[in-house]
This record gives sequence, C-alpha cells and structure tokens, in this order.
Amino acid sequence: MSDEQSGGCGCGQAPREMYKAVCAECKQECEVPFKPKDDRPIYCKACFTKRKSGGR
Ligand SMILES: [Zn+2]
Repeated sequence: MSDEQSGGCGCGQAPREMYKAVCAECKQECEVPFKPKDDRPIYCKACFTKRKSGGR
C-alpha cells in the first residue's frame, strides 16, 4: 500500500536522486539532491537556511 514510493508509472514526478552527506556545520547526516564534492562544504537544510538568512 505504498504507491507513493514506488512511482512506477512515471506519470509526472521523477524520483530525485539523493546523496548522503554530512553537514559541515552541525555534523549531522543529511541528504542533498546533488553529488557532494570533497572541496565543498555541505550543509543540511536547517544550516543552509540559517546561513542564507542570518549573519555572515
Ligand atoms: Zn547542519
């Protein structure tokens, strides 16, 4: 009963590939919709929003 996850019909929503990463700020495991690069810090959603909206 989980037709939401299988997405077999391909009628609209394309399954997005997510990559596991560790947030550079809070060191928590998170998932990002792009391939994390070694030389680039990854931020989880919370930290990303925090950096974007507040402070330096
Ligand atoms: Zn974080």
